[in-house]
Amino acid sequence: MDKTYRFSNFHTHCYLDDGQESLEAYVLKALSLNFNALGFSCHAPVPFDDEGHLRSEDFDSYLKTIYELKAAYKDRIEIYAGLELDYLEQSNEMAGSEYADRLDFTIGSLHVMYCNDEFGYLSIDYRPEDFEKILDCRFSGNIKDMVSHFWHLQTLMVEQHRFSFFGHCDAIKKLNEGNRYFNAQEAWYQELVAPFLQSLARNHVRMEVNTGGLARGKTNETYPSNSIIRQAVALGIPLLLSSDAHQSETLDFYFQQAHDEIIQAGAKSLDTLYHGLWIKRPIV
Ligand SMILES: [Zn+2]
Ligand SMILES: [Zn+2]
Repeated sequence: MDKTYRFSNFHTHCYLDDGQESLEAYVLKALSLNFNALGFSCHAPVPFDDEGHLRSEDFDSYLKTIYELKAAYKDRIEIYAGLELDYLEQSNEMAGSEYADRLDFTIGSLHVMYCNDEFGYLSIDYRPEDFEKILDCRFSGNIKDMVSHFWHLQTLMVEQHRFSFFGHCDAIKKLNEGNRYFNAQEAWYQELVAPFLQSLARNHVRMEVNTGGLARGKTNETYPSNSIIRQAVALGIPLLLSSDAHQSETLDFYFQQAHDEIIQAGAKSLDTLYHGLWIKRPIV
C-alpha cells in the first residue's frame, strides 16, 4: 500500500441528530488521525416524529457550520457537507432529497419500514420491539417475507433514486444477534442479496463498508459481511470505507482491519471525494 495513503470518512452523526458532540470535535479528531477528508451526514429530516433526525429548521445552521469549518481548516483537511437520506416505501421517496443540490454528497439508506396505519413507519435496526412489531403486524411473523421485503426495497431505491453511495446494505442483521431470526448463510438469503448487488453494479452505485455495528457492539462484522463484499468486488461495485461514527472517538473504528478485509476481498481501490470529485484511491 502507498505509504502516503490516508483514510477518509463520509458517514458521521453529530449532536444535531442521534450522534454526540459538536461538528468541530469530529474535525479535530480527523486531524489527529491524519485523515485527508471528512464528511458530515446527519440523518435527513423525515415527515414523521423521530428525535434521531436533523430537524428541518436546523438545516441552514448545520450547513453554515460545515462551511465555516471548511474555511477554517481548508489547509489541513477537506470537509464535505452531506445527509443520510431515508427511503420511505409509502411514497417511494428519499426523505431529504430536496436538500441534495446544496450538498456535496448524499447517502441512501433504509432504516424504516411501514408497519401499519396504527404505528406508521418503524425502525428495522434500532429498537427490538419495533422490529418485532413490523414482523408480527405486517408480515404475520414470517421472517423470510420481512427480509425479502428489505432487500426488495433496497433494490427499488437503487433503481429509482440517485445518491453518492449506498449505506450499510445488510443492516437487517443488526438485531439478528446469534441468528435469532434468520441465518444469512442460507441459500434463500443469498438469493435475495444477488439482485440487489446486480442493481448496484448496473446503476454504477457505490457501496460503503461500514464499521458502525462493530463500534457499537451490535455486530461482529462490518456492514456488509465479507461474503457480500467479495461478491460486490467481483461485480465491479465501487467501495468506500466509513464508520458511521456517532461520536468522534469512533471515527476510524476498525478501519485498518476493514481495509485489510477489503483488500482480501479483491478490491484494488476505494472511492473518496478529492477536491470535490469522486476518485478511486489505489489500496494495493
Ligand atoms: Zn444509517
Ligand atoms: Zn448513519
